Order: sequence, then structure tokens, then C-alpha cells
Amino acid sequence: MIEQEMDFENRIVSPDYNYTQDEAELSLRPKTLDEYIGQDKVKENLKIYITAAKQRKESLDHVLLYGPPGLGKTTLAGIIAREMGVNLRVTSGPAIEKQGDLVAILTSLQEGDVLFIDEIHRLPRNVEEILYPAMEDFSLDIIIGKGPSARSIRLDVPHFTLVGATTRSGQLTAPLRDRFGVLLRLDLYTPEQLAEIVIRSAGILSIGIERDGALEVASRSRGTPRIANRLLKRVRDIAQVEFDGVITEETAQSALRRFEIDELGLDDFDRKMLSTIITNYSGGPVGLDTLAAAIGEEAVTIEDVYEPYLMQIGFLTRTARGRCVTKLAYDHLGIDFNSDSKQQSIF
Ligand code: ADP
Repeated sequence: MIEQEMDFENRIVSPDYNYTQDEAELSLRPKTLDEYIGQDKVKENLKIYITAAKQRKESLDHVLLYGPPGLGKTTLAGIIAREMGVNLRVTSGPAIEKQGDLVAILTSLQEGDVLFIDEIHRLPRNVEEILYPAMEDFSLDIIIGKGPSARSIRLDVPHFTLVGATTRSGQLTAPLRDRFGVLLRLDLYTPEQLAEIVIRSAGILSIGIERDGALEVASRSRGTPRIANRLLKRVRDIAQVEFDGVITEETAQSALRRFEIDELGLDDFDRKMLSTIITNYSGGPVGLDTLAAAIGEEAVTIEDVYEPYLMQIGFLTRTARGRCVTKLAYDHLGIDFNSDSKQQSIF
């Protein structure tokens, strides 16, 4: 096999948004709750809150969506706005640098609008403080001037719904978290749900696909719709050039093998992390920061990008003393669980 430079930025199975790989995303976004596949509990709750708010002719309570990237948080914010019949404004925590930026956004909203703030845990602290009275009383306390002549004025803003998204709710400060009336956790999708998403996307993009082909793509998509859509498009290219254009189980298998994504959706990055824990730390436990240094990755990337799926498939566990690789992962990588190095670490 040719040695390839590992390119984390363009990793096919990374759940983070990547402009070059995901430009078709907008057209694939479901527009209504009924089109939104899976996450049944979240949908059920939202339906009730939306109906109740509409009956009362009020804006919807602020909603916090949390879960790994690529699971449909931005999509849901759009659906909420559409179902409420209001406008959607989209921004993100890191994009709002100064208090003035947020004041400008809030004062330009119309009554009932949905303001979506992605990565809300990354809002600067002084900006976050502006949000507290805005969320609670729909007002802003603004300081005008400096020094002894400074004075505080109170400004009203329209009733709006803040939809915040974060990868983990624990990253939010308590005062911000407490101001959300609705907290919804998105879970990784099952292969069957992802297959439905793949079939729906194939329909929109006019790609011919068989159910078994869709299931094959789905089961390698790490529980994440964004990855499923991305793999669908990559597999389509191969189906078109080398086969008769229709994605069958075999086409999908052959294409995904070429991308070095195995039958569980693991790529070189996952295998490197698991084998580092096995060879350097006898399978664990190893602390997050030590592991991050060993594989040259940021701790937060390991937590948000690698771990959720590896834990879901039972390859990795988190203990008080650190991360441990399970026997299942040893078996998958073809490494003997009862090898000498493992025994030494136990005794
Ligand atoms: P997040 O904001 O959580 O990172 P997005 O809302 O941007 O995720 O979703 C990524 C893509 O995955 C969307 O473009 C959409 O096409 C697809 N997607 C997400 N959730 C669903 C779903 N439940 N049903 C169908 N497609 C979905």
C-alpha cells in the first residue's frame, strides 16, 4: 500500500463541516420535522413545544441542542424557524467577537425570529453576559461612554427564540445553560436510520442506489448523517466511472475499501489511536492529555470527533483513570488481547 500523508483536514469520516466535501449540504437538509429522519424523542418534544407556542401565539422557549457534530443541529434550527413561520438568523460563538456584534444582531431581529448560535460554548464571556437579560427579559443593558460620564441604558429587543448548539452541554457555563427552557440531546443514528437518509439524499441528487448499497454506506458512516451524505457522493463517483452507475452493495464495498474505510467506518486515524493505546499503554488506562500528545491531536478533537463513535461501538471506555481499549477493538484490529504486554499491565 502507498504510504499516504494523513490529512486530518480532509478526513472523509470526520463529522466536522468541510466546505469542499459538503457543499451540497444545503440542498440535502430536511425542511420539516416529518422529513427529519430519526431522533424520535427530540422530534416528539419539539412538536409539542412548537404546537403549544403557536396556540398561545408566543415565541418558542429557548432551545439548547447538544451532541456530536454532523447530527443535524443546524438542520433542526432551520426546521424550528420554518414550523414557527419566522425568519432564521445563523451565527456562531467564535464569529461574535465583541458585545457590539451581538447587540447589532439582536436589535435587527424581528418579533419571533429564531437566532441560531452554533458552538455557543465558544462565545466570549463578556458577550455571553449580554445574552442573559436578552434571553430572560428581552432587554439589553448597554453602557454608553467611558469613565465617570458612563451611563447604562436599557434597550428592548423583540421576543426571539435562541437555538444554541454545542457538542457537549457540560461545556456551557451554568448561568447560560439555566436560561434555556428546552434541552435536547441528539444521539448517533442507527445504520437503518442512516440508510433511510442515504436513500432520501440519493433521490434528491438523482443517484441510483439499491437498499443494500445504502445500508453498506450507512453502516460505515459512524452514526453521522453528514458522513453518510459525504460517503454517498464519493461512492457515486466510483459507481459512475467503474460500474454501471447504480450503487449496489458490491460497488459500495469496493469504493469504501479504496478509501480505506473499514466495514465499521474506521479509518487510519482511528486505527492509529487505538493501536497507540494498545502498544504504548498496554490498552490503557491512559489520560486524555497524554494520549493527545502521543498521537499529535488536540484533546478536544479526540473527545468530540474520535471518541463518541468508538465508545458507541464498544471499542473504547472512559474510566476515572483514563481511556481503555476493549477486547472488541483488539479483535477488530487482529491483535491478541491476552498478549504479554497486556498481562504485564494487569499484574
Ligand atoms: P450539525 O449542525 O449538527 O453539525 P447539520 O444540521 O449541519 O449538523 O447536518 C449535517 C447534514 O446531515 C445536513 O446537511 C443534512 O443533510 C443531514 N442531516 C442531518 N440530520 C438529518 C436527519 N435527521 N435526516 C436527514 N438528513 C439529516
